[in-house]
Amino acid sequence: MSGNTVRLQAIRDVEAYVPPAVSFSETETPGEIFGENVFNKTVMQKRLPKSVYKSVIATIERGETLDPLVADAVASAMKDWALEKGATHYAHVFYPLTGLTAEKHDSFLEPESDGTALAEFAGKTLVQGEPDASSFPNGGLRNTFEARGYTGWDVTSPAYVLENPNGNTLCIPTVFVSMTGEALDHKTPLLRSQQAMGVQAERILALFGHENLNHVVSFCGPEQEYFLVDRHFFLARPDLLNAGRTLFGAKPPKGQEFDDHYFGAIPERVLGFMMDTERELFKLGIPAKTRHNEVAPGQFEIAPMFERSNIASDHQQLLMTTFKSIAKKHGMEVLFHEKPFQGVNGSGKHVNFSLGNNELGSLFVPGDNPHDNAQFLVFCAATIRAVHLFGGLLRASVASASNDHRLGANEAPPAIISIFLGDQLADIFDQIAKGSLTSSKGKGTMHIGVDTLPVLPTDPGDRNRTSPFAFTGNRFEFRAPGSLQTVAAPMVTINTIMADSLDYCAGELEAAVAAGTDFDEAVQTLLTKIITEHGAVVFNGDGYSAAWPIEAEKRGLKNLKTTLDALPELITEPALALFEKYGVFNKREMHSRYEIGLEQYVLTVGVEARLSLEIGSTVILPAAVRYQTELATNVAALKAAGVAADTASLEAVSAPLADLRSALATLKDALAVDTDHDALAEGEHARDALLPAMSAVRAAADALEEIVADDLWPLPTYQEMLFML
Ligand code: ADP
Ligand code: MG
Repeated sequence: MSGNTVRLQAIRDVEAYVPPAVSFSETETPGEIFGENVFNKTVMQKRLPKSVYKSVIATIERGETLDPLVADAVASAMKDWALEKGATHYAHVFYPLTGLTAEKHDSFLEPESDGTALAEFAGKTLVQGEPDASSFPNGGLRNTFEARGYTGWDVTSPAYVLENPNGNTLCIPTVFVSMTGEALDHKTPLLRSQQAMGVQAERILALFGHENLNHVVSFCGPEQEYFLVDRHFFLARPDLLNAGRTLFGAKPPKGQEFDDHYFGAIPERVLGFMMDTERELFKLGIPAKTRHNEVAPGQFEIAPMFERSNIASDHQQLLMTTFKSIAKKHGMEVLFHEKPFQGVNGSGKHVNFSLGNNELGSLFVPGDNPHDNAQFLVFCAATIRAVHLFGGLLRASVASASNDHRLGANEAPPAIISIFLGDQLADIFDQIAKGSLTSSKGKGTMHIGVDTLPVLPTDPGDRNRTSPFAFTGNRFEFRAPGSLQTVAAPMVTINTIMADSLDYCAGELEAAVAAGTDFDEAVQTLLTKIITEHGAVVFNGDGYSAAWPIEAEKRGLKNLKTTLDALPELITEPALALFEKYGVFNKREMHSRYEIGLEQYVLTVGVEARLSLEIGSTVILPAAVRYQTELATNVAALKAAGVAADTASLEAVSAPLADLRSALATLKDALAVDTDHDALAEGEHARDALLPAMSAVRAAADALEEIVADDLWPLPTYQEMLFML
């Protein structure tokens, strides 16, 4: 291909690129390397004095407060282990509210007075760190003069050694809090909410006769969707590089209509990347499980096995970091943005969750006797109530400028939060509502009297991929979270609203039993009450249909279309009271999350708007002008030669070019508007002025892409980015 645009050079580079060989050993089994770089229970058992080991395990399994005396012993063993693994530094890893992962690295070596250095790692260094935290968002929780924040060791999430060509690092998962103990991160509330939910779940379990259990926790199995693009293209697209999504790009002649990508053969180069990442993930103890192509070209998915939600959340963050670095090694870039390509399916991160523990398994699994089923139905009913009362909070927990492009776009659940139970379970709740639970749909195995509850089949029933919150047999799947987001935010919300509902259920049942009501009858009454009051949130139909928003409104369900509509849910009175009651967030912390949500929204759209102006003015406009000049020269030359000139082509490029100029001017004006630094006003301006102005720029630019000569077009096209892997 002749021509010297950045794009054409990128294409030549892509064609010439030779992917690296996969570092793959024929004899190595995944089991051999799994957890190799993790300071896990097995390592601890081997290296810690018995009493110290028991104390740490008690903290992990039973939530007992960590004995400060054990910290020194653990730190010392951890250091020796890490040094053997080639670590030179240690880092407290934390999860600030940017949604990214942050690390503060320190050397193990402490200088001695005689000029030598000694590897040191004391208990207090393990337990607490003090990163320079002033640059992390805090939503008003910290004045700059007291910009200190502390990191604190999360004993329940294992430390690990991260390999790097420049030296290995011992990484310690930590919480990140302000001087006054307020949460500045995602992990702190996750741990708090987990605990709150556990306490209430255990009250219910006690009523069903389970005593002295290990703590109930929430489990999370996140399905991560992502795109891969060749890095040469990525670098030739300032929008992808700076905003993570394309702000320009005409629809390709061949899109995803053929459905030939989904579960198709994985390209060899991508497979090489997947094998490399999986190997790294295994070493870090991350149970990567499935891999397959997704719906869109260039789109893939990885779903690790579910784990305790705080570990799943740490692992999820680590997975994203690992993906980024390994993709680079393979000459590709991972796109975690929810909608990197307009008109092409976006990426989500489905949060599969359940409650349970190692003794009982998932509490969302129907049992094989009426007693166990009653327990299962109470947990399901609690979920229905939680989603009905706090659907707005669930929506807010996944709100971001980038996820706004995906939710409700006929590829992801709508912004309306409803719950899908599947035919079988929906039928049972239907009958509970009517007070006539006598049989179960489909299967004739149920025996139900007034005082007993049904024998439920373990068949998960149908899948409904249009539902934002679906029962899938042994868990619920929250499908609204975006691919870029941390799973911590939705899990905090899920844990907290479940704590509230389980608290309510336990209260009702305890009171009924105290009043002498038969337990089975109390359960029946509770289930009937919940499904009567909250059944409106159950929806088994097509969430993508045009009729659903209308029907949902009749049912009183919220349709919070954009981040700006959703964020205020965080600071409603019921929300503030809820989070405060269960000790997850105080009011200041909630307000800070709201502020940060707004701030991030404004920043994201602002960056995109400036990029759109810059690329539109300095990349696309000049290309179109050059082409226009070429055509004008041609017309003039032909006219001079007395030959009929092609003025139609000239006009065809001149019209969208004029549109582009005027759209750029409008965008420039919109960017110049001063909103007086009022966050909400800035947000509204971003949504109502900047985004539409960017769309107009894009429409003109995309029209030009279909007209301007190929050798002049400067940006890699959708076709090239999506199909050249
Ligand atoms: P699908 O695409 O059909 O939804 P996948 O196999 O892609 O299924 O992903 C299922 C996800 O659900 C995995 O991450 C898995 O670990 C998780 N999962 C399975 N059982 C549970 C459970 N009891 N609790 C939480 N997550 C679970
Ligand atoms: Mg799924």
